[in-house]
Amino acid sequence: MRKVSIFGATGSIGQNTIDLIRRAPEAYKVVALTGGANIARLAEDAIALRAEIAVTAYEDRLPDLRAALEGSGVEAAAGQAALIEAAARPADWIMSAIVGAAGLAPGMEALKHGTTLALANKESLVCAGKLLLETAEIHGARLLPVDSEHSAVFQGLVGEDISAVERIIITASGGAFRDWPIEDLANATLAQASSHPNWDMGQRITIDSASMFNKALEVIETREYFGVRPDQIEVLVHPESLVHALVGFNDGAIMAHLGAADMRHAIGYALHWPERQHLPVERLDLARIGQLNFRAPDLARYPALRLAYEVMERGGMMGAVFNAAKEQALDDFIAGRIRFTEMAAVVERVLERFAAESSLIDDAMTLDNVTRVDHLARKQAAQAAEERVG
Ligand code: NDP
Ligand code: MG
Repeated sequence: MRKVSIFGATGSIGQNTIDLIRRAPEAYKVVALTGGANIARLAEDAIALRAEIAVTAYEDRLPDLRAALEGSGVEAAAGQAALIEAAARPADWIMSAIVGAAGLAPGMEALKHGTTLALANKESLVCAGKLLLETAEIHGARLLPVDSEHSAVFQGLVGEDISAVERIIITASGGAFRDWPIEDLANATLAQASSHPNWDMGQRITIDSASMFNKALEVIETREYFGVRPDQIEVLVHPESLVHALVGFNDGAIMAHLGAADMRHAIGYALHWPERQHLPVERLDLARIGQLNFRAPDLARYPALRLAYEVMERGGMMGAVFNAAKEQALDDFIAGRIRFTEMAAVVERVLERFAAESSLIDDAMTLDNVTRVDHLARKQAAQAAEERVG
């Protein structure tokens, strides 16, 4: 039996992971499940999967979790220290599917124990890619990509030498507003931004898809994970979301990865790697689909993409600044404090401030320094948001 833990078990990726594990209960021993505010879901799944421990990120929810787990034999815990403790529990495979930079510290802890980490939490690679990869190397741990594009590239590289790769192309659906007149974007509402044309995902990544901040994070994720240069990474708008990524080699060949828009493919690939096993995802009928469309992204519509390349050029801890400013701007959009199009403006202003004070981002990349930079960038983003609306 393989020992597995799922961080962010109550979210969209977490629930898809549980779906796969439930289909073969005899193959897995569930160690820890973690969640946030959704105590009922967390407790129900922890009991059904006979987890050792269930952890909520929020300390004040411990009494609720304890009550929900009463008599089940599942341990209850809460708070940041408990999340870290759960990540340190021996496991063969951990799914990192907390949303945002909050996933970084538990992911680091899992790697320090040599555990294989299936990484949906792209934010941790954007914030601290070098640190995660170094930690994995030192402790002999493996990081497996779960983001659909990165899983697709990873699969395209099996048996290949990375030095033969000329370019990596990740696709983007274009999000909720891909066909809107550009002048209407400033008036996009939260409800409109929260509905994705092809994928069923958590609210934050869905809004990030509409703004392409998600693709911006993924461009940086590609650089960190595969170690290619920024000029080797391209984004292609592909409204059908069936080709997830393409790898271009030095002989002109391009290997494309196709599959249904169902995260259980990438999750399952990471779960069964290095083997392939049967997965309950739709099989594509290309004759019925008929055609696939591609176009270059419009940088005026998606300024976040341009910012990603600036972040990579600057280096240091600029990725942590970018992600934190983006998370804060997203909070401010969700709370109705700024408009949809102001998110990119806020993030750009924060990047400019940090670029002007380079000492802030050129320190050694440690968890403490990344956390410090993250807090500072959030503060500055909140301030920039206030200045814009004030
Ligand atoms: P969701 O919002 O659906 O779920 C997020 C999970 O994290 C929930 O379990 C939530 O708990 C928990 N959580 C939220 N805040 C905190 C916190 N501060 N500390 C600890 N736990 C917290 O997100 P998704 O499942 O959509 O995304 C998860 C990650 O996977 C993200 O990094 C995203 O970018 C990435 N990803 C997602 C894809 C998708 O298809 N959804 C595709 C590719 C990548 P609760 O809900 O109980 O409050
Ligand atoms: Mg993706």
